[in-house]
Amino acid sequence: MSWDVVIGIETHVQLNTKTKIFSGASTAFGAEPNTQACVLSIALPGTLPVLNYEAVQCAIKFGLATNAEIAPRSIFARKNYFYPDLPKGYQISQHTTPICVGGQVTIQTKDGEKQIQLNRIHLEEDAGKSIHDLSPTDTLIDLNRAGTPLIEIVTEPCLHSAEDAFLYVTEVRKLVRWLGICDGNMEEGSLRCDANVSVRLKGEKKLGTRVEVKNLNSIRNVKKSIEYEIARMIEVLESGGTITQQTRSFDASNDTTFPLRDKEEANDYRYFPDPDLAPFVLSDTYINEIKLGLPILPDALEEKLMTQYQLSRYDATQICESLNTVQYFEATAKHTSNYKSVANWMLGPIKSYLNEVGLDYSNLGLQPNILADLIRIIDECQLNFSVAASKILPQLVNGIKTDVFAISNE
Ligand code: ADP
Ligand code: MG
Repeated sequence: MSWDVVIGIETHVQLNTKTKIFSGASTAFGAEPNTQACVLSIALPGTLPVLNYEAVQCAIKFGLATNAEIAPRSIFARKNYFYPDLPKGYQISQHTTPICVGGQVTIQTKDGEKQIQLNRIHLEEDAGKSIHDLSPTDTLIDLNRAGTPLIEIVTEPCLHSAEDAFLYVTEVRKLVRWLGICDGNMEEGSLRCDANVSVRLKGEKKLGTRVEVKNLNSIRNVKKSIEYEIARMIEVLESGGTITQQTRSFDASNDTTFPLRDKEEANDYRYFPDPDLAPFVLSDTYINEIKLGLPILPDALEEKLMTQYQLSRYDATQICESLNTVQYFEATAKHTSNYKSVANWMLGPIKSYLNEVGLDYSNLGLQPNILADLIRIIDECQLNFSVAASKILPQLVNGIKTDVFAISNE
């Protein structure tokens, strides 16, 4: 039998505002438990939420960068459920009026470019954390995270392979970092994904029953969990079984998933508009101001690197991996016209060095003009690239020595 795979991804992005979405408490990561749990985070009676407009701006930035429609007026809704890390008994989220509707994220696959269609982006607050592994008998609650602003980015069920899902999440992470709205750090939970997966017989129009794998905290795990689910579902169906709609979790120790709960009927959250928060209205002027402040997006920069510096598409894409990398490239290109060589150094030996020591181009000791000197000396003295990479570069990377000519004559 031949099967079609259908995947939709929900991505929670913690916005890097200094304070929470509805209060002035800090959002910094790693503080002592509950030191950032203000009266709102612990839901003291009588406390009232006040919207943090910086979070709204972050959401608009992402919407603009993905060509989504920005809703001129949206409201917050209460999503009611009981959980120990949610003292209010409801999460403030959006329901029928998300801040952004539609939009696309472009991925480059082996078979060419694909547009991943977004359904919506909504603003909401994060919950606290239940900690199950610190005490042998108790579950501990840390409410520092409660109220951290999130956007949830929801795709249409339009992805068809684990590989494309991998590329999509990679692209989303790149974009949030590029826009400066989130550090994209999945290990710290700044970016978390749920993967919805179903399969159906080829030719079948109706979507198959889906499972949702929750809280994937690395891009690798997104891919592995989807691969596992596809194989598992096909095996169940081919042996005559049926798929039940479930929420599952990923076990990274053996790359499998296991059921958490059968999904109850939809709409058991009793959403209703939050009476403590007024609808918020965004004028065209406000949205345009944010648009003008956006950095040039990776796609546009790639084109620029190809035309202005004659880089190949491959090199241009690699250099556009992050804004820091492009900035370093352009700073170096001011001092040399051997652009291809700049790309070779940056994507080869310097990148290996940065990976090794856990730095990036924003904190590399080697200054752009010194890299340009190195390139010039290699071209003029016809030094061998790999010798220069192994002998000269290591002496320059930390930025203490800067006389390339002297080093190359040693
Ligand atoms: P919920 O909030 O209950 O998880 P949504 O309708 O918001 O439900 O869908 C969540 C995600 O699941 C979306 O990305 C959507 O594209 C995807 N999805 C919905 N149905 C399917 C399906 N049958 N197979 C794969 N993905 C699906
Ligand atoms: Mg969901």
